Amino acid sequence: MSEFQLDFQDTATAYADKSDSQLNDKYRLFRMLNSPFLNAIGSTAARFALSVGLPVEGLIKATIFEQFCGGETIAECDRTIESLGGSHIGTILDYAVEGKSTEEDFDHVKDEIIRTVKRAKDDPNIPFSVFKVTGIAPLGTLEKMSGKKKLDAKSQAKCERIHNRVKEICEVAYQQGQPIFIDAEDSWIQDAIDQLTLEMMEKYNRERPIVFSTLQMYRTDRLQYLKDSRRQAKADGYIYAVKLVRGAYMEKERERAKQMGYPSPIHATRADTDADFDAAIEYCLRHYQTMSFVAATHNEESTRLLASQMHELGIAPDHPNIFFSQLYGMGDNISYVLAAKGYNVTKYVPYGPVAESVPYLIRRAQENSSAAGQMSRELEMIARELRRRKQV
Ligand SMILES: Cc1cc2nc3c(=O)[nH]c(=O)nc-3n(C[C@H](O)[C@H](O)[C@H](O)COP(=O)(O)OP(=O)(O)OC[C@H]3O[C@@H](n4cnc5c(N)ncnc54)[C@H](O)[C@@H]3O)c2cc1C
Repeated sequence: MSEFQLDFQDTATAYADKSDSQLNDKYRLFRMLNSPFLNAIGSTAARFALSVGLPVEGLIKATIFEQFCGGETIAECDRTIESLGGSHIGTILDYAVEGKSTEEDFDHVKDEIIRTVKRAKDDPNIPFSVFKVTGIAPLGTLEKMSGKKKLDAKSQAKCERIHNRVKEICEVAYQQGQPIFIDAEDSWIQDAIDQLTLEMMEKYNRERPIVFSTLQMYRTDRLQYLKDSRRQAKADGYIYAVKLVRGAYMEKERERAKQMGYPSPIHATRADTDADFDAAIEYCLRHYQTMSFVAATHNEESTRLLASQMHELGIAPDHPNIFFSQLYGMGDNISYVLAAKGYNVTKYVPYGPVAESVPYLIRRAQENSSAAGQMSRELEMIARELRRRKQV
């Protein structure tokens, strides 16, 4: 067996398609994000300026938006799709509009998601599509559905409209043969999302994996849920497909549990989340021939674990049932290094009007802020590559 090698410090590969000036721009932005003070000011100022109509969209677009988003429209993402494709990295077009509330808005978002599915057809550079149920459904109705309370006639009608939108999207995905992820969200609406997802999987995953569920392994109950869902899918004769993540809403989850006086659904420690994420990877790997899964993470240890176990088991890096995924603008040392070694790699490429992408951008900004004064993971990699370039 050939020797297993995966060097996530290989910044020459990670930033091979970035010019010196692009890398310097990236460095300046990540250095600003790294400062908790500037980060907080920037986030608040962006929200305020947009809310009172100050003309800051151009500034946001040229800076943070440019680093984390593909463009404002699907067409504007073409350059990014091609550039990632040139490095054998697939794009997942993610319509990053959040916080909508009217039925017309939800229909509009549903139509846009369908356009992303159609754009992906026959383009090998776009292996998956994705959507968030909260983009096409009122939060209150999802919460009621999750609470398993009896719905009144009005909520029942809303519930049917949610169901129809999800079904319409998945139906198009099925017709086009285009796999699609359904993102995981807050635990208090997740039961409704899980129900819808399982129903879609049961309907559309008979011949091949089309609909992918998402499991947040920071939740204490998800490892068992993964096992139960896979077994159920097998018993019912459809292909289980899942995207594994650690989970993005930890603070909000803990805060709500504390305020409302119920036990937090999130693991008490970082080590517990890591252990469940890795156990989930190992579980999926045991069943990789009959299911499909995506390790969606920027964590080097978890990525290495999956890649090294694939190697040990003699599974080809590009096995069609196993994928790695990161977010555009983050984890390039993982994405580019994996892709160069022949693994299946994709990146979420968010897009949408600048003003409406701000909540997404603020989450990325906070993720790259440093509480303890040390450099964020991304900043460290960019600085390392700039140093390397000066020496060559
Ligand atoms: C392609 C892609 C798709 C994604 N889709 C979703 C999605 O659908 N839903 C969603 O919620 N998130 C999603 N995420 C975000 C993801 O959940 C994580 O927030 C993010 O990727 C950071 O986790 P990590 O595995 O990359 O690793 P790391 O950065 O190594 O881990 C950070 C994560 O560990 C966990 N953690 C940290 N400290 C503690 C603690 N004290 N106790 C318990 N747990 C802790 C948290 O989940 C935190 O986000 C996605 C990420 C990617 C890359």
